[in-house]
This record gives sequence, structure tokens and C-alpha cells, in this order.
Amino acid sequence: MIKHYSADYILPVSSAPLPNGVVSVNETGEITGIYSHNSPETQKFAIERLSGILTPGFINSHCHLELSYLENKVDRGLGLIRFIETVIGFRKMSFNGQVGAAMKKADETMQNNGIVAVGDVCNSSVSRDVKKNSSLFYHTFVEMICFEPEKAGDILRDYIGIKEEFEGPNVSLSPHAPYSVCKDLFRYLNKYSHENGDILSMHNQESEDENKFYRYKTGGFVEFYKRLGRDIDFFKPQARNSLQSILPLFLSNQRIVLVHNTYTSLKDLYFARRFGHDIFWCFCPKANLYIEGKLPKIELFLLNDLNITLGTDSLASNDTLCILSELKTLASHYPAIPLVTTIGWATLNGARLFNIAGQYGSLEIGKKPGLNLITHTDGLSLTERSEVRRIA
Ligand SMILES: [Zn+2]
Repeated sequence: MIKHYSADYILPVSSAPLPNGVVSVNETGEITGIYSHNSPETQKFAIERLSGILTPGFINSHCHLELSYLENKVDRGLGLIRFIETVIGFRKMSFNGQVGAAMKKADETMQNNGIVAVGDVCNSSVSRDVKKNSSLFYHTFVEMICFEPEKAGDILRDYIGIKEEFEGPNVSLSPHAPYSVCKDLFRYLNKYSHENGDILSMHNQESEDENKFYRYKTGGFVEFYKRLGRDIDFFKPQARNSLQSILPLFLSNQRIVLVHNTYTSLKDLYFARRFGHDIFWCFCPKANLYIEGKLPKIELFLLNDLNITLGTDSLASNDTLCILSELKTLASHYPAIPLVTTIGWATLNGARLFNIAGQYGSLEIGKKPGLNLITHTDGLSLTERSEVRRIA
């Protein structure tokens, strides 16, 4: 049976907003029609009138399901390095049954919050069954951490083993961050990813210490490795920011989602443009505020017309897994960026990143993208009270 919905606005994303438009969806969730408010065809429909904005289902481009058990356990404002040390500390403790239950709850939370697809970073295969049994689409990034050149070859083999535990095509190996992956591993991974056509994900410039580490080999990460008792003599200062040092290690055309970008400069963006990589820039504003209390210079990315997506990061650095909540944070800190722009980041751009735009990301006939109602809106803007409800 086909249902017909109208709302203050319909945002198909791939086409212009339709004030008081109508969207039709069948019982399988497939979009069967999209109409402007004065379309004669809609005269014969029984239309359910809704208050708010109808959008496609949201794509969460960056999450760590396996850290869900850390909800409410990590203090705010630690700064990235103390945050990492705190998470490492928790990982040494035993949480027995909590990890699985927390992941299942997080998966349900995302479904309830209108998320339909997730880019999920993991360090083990512990999240495999939750993902397998979920109605959400998952692309899994098996995240590699190794800042010891002599171990890089073995580490790659170990992680390929974890990758193989996730069945199907939607899994790839990925580097954690420039400060935690040595050049040797980047090179091995680059070759492997290129041969397999893999999408990569990497945390990028989440703290200023990362740039200091690469430019001068000073700052918090030098101390961090000292505290770990790690000899990093092999690492030489690069006299340029981390991103500019790492990008040349990837072959051209490599698709890569760079996550956070809090300390990415205009110069970094110009540098990135010179190489032919297929870069997506993922922002996780609430996690940035949680950990560092600072947001990226998003206006620089707009000037350069880049592929932008949104993520929640994990419950270790967020109070919930909700893309609408990220959109509200953007709206309050960057009021000049219209919702029609940020909704594109939260939907179609994420779908393109994961090669799933044939089904997800926009309201188009024949797709099954999910249908969200955002309530308590003001015209085409969000308000503090805006909430999301899944319609289909
Ligand atoms: Zn992350």
C-alpha cells in the first residue's frame, strides 16, 4: 500500500526543496512519487499532513560502535591526547557483557534517530554480529594502529585477518591517524587498498599537537610516546603539517574520508587539491566540542566546494549518536550555512562516499533511502527543539 505524506517542506536533496510538497512511499520503503504542492496528480491521494521537514534517512560517516560501552565514562574537555590515554586505560579493563549490549543499544539508537547507513571504525571483530543483524547499512573500517616501522608488515597481516572476519564487500582496512601509523605501514596499506579498490578512513588534524609533531617533532605526542616508553627516533620532523606529509603517500584516485579536520588550514586544503585523491571531509562537531572544545574552520571548506559529510564519532566522545543533533550544533555555531547545505552533507554526500547513492541519500523515485520527519522547524531552519522521527 502506498502512503502519501506532505510537510512544510520536502527536501529531496538531489533537487530543490518543495514547500508543501508530497512524497509517496510504498510498504517496502521505496519512493514512488514526489510532487509539488499544486500537482494535479495529488488531488486523488489521501495525504497525511505532517508538520516539519521531510528528508531522506541520514548517513553517519564516522562512528565507533565498539566504544559504545564508554558512554558517560570519559570526561569532557580532556584534549585529544588525554582522551586517547583515557580510552586506552578503559580498554585494559574488563567490561564483560557490557560491550555487546552497549553496541546493540547504540545501533537501535541510530535507527530511532533516522540514521540508515554508518561508516564504522573498529579495531576488532567484536561488532560483527550486531552489524550483521542490523537493518542499518554498515561500511566497516578496520583501523590500524602501529607507529613501529619494524612491525608494520606483521601488523598488516594481522589486520587483514580481522578484515576477513567481516564478510562481504563493505569492509576496508584504514589508518588510524598520521601520529599513530608509521610511513612503512602507510605504504603497505596504500598498495593493499589500491589493489582492492578500498575506501580509506583516517582521523585527520584532530588536535594542534598532530601538526606540531609533524612540523617540528615537538608537542604532546612526543611526550605521549615517552610515557608509553616508545622509541620514536626513526621519526623525523617534516617541516609541514601532518596532512601535507601523509597525502603524498597515497596513490592518486584513492578515495579517503578524512575525519575531524579541526586544525586543517587553507594551505592544507590547497595542498590536498593538487593531488588527485577522491577526498571526503567528515565533520563530527559534537565530538570536537566534547574533546577539544574547538570546531573546524568549516567556512574554508565551503569556499573550496569540497565533499563534506557528517559523523557522530563514538559514545566515548558524544552524549548520543544522532545526526540531527550534529546538524543542530552546526546550525547554532555556523548560522550562515543553510540547512539545505548541511542536509546534503548528512545524506547524499555520505551515500556517495560509501557507493550507496543508488539506494540512499536522496528522495528519488525507485530509491529506498529512509524517510525522516524533522519536527519543530522554522521554515527551512532547525530550532533548539527540533526532533527527528522515522516515517519510512
Ligand atoms: Zn573517531
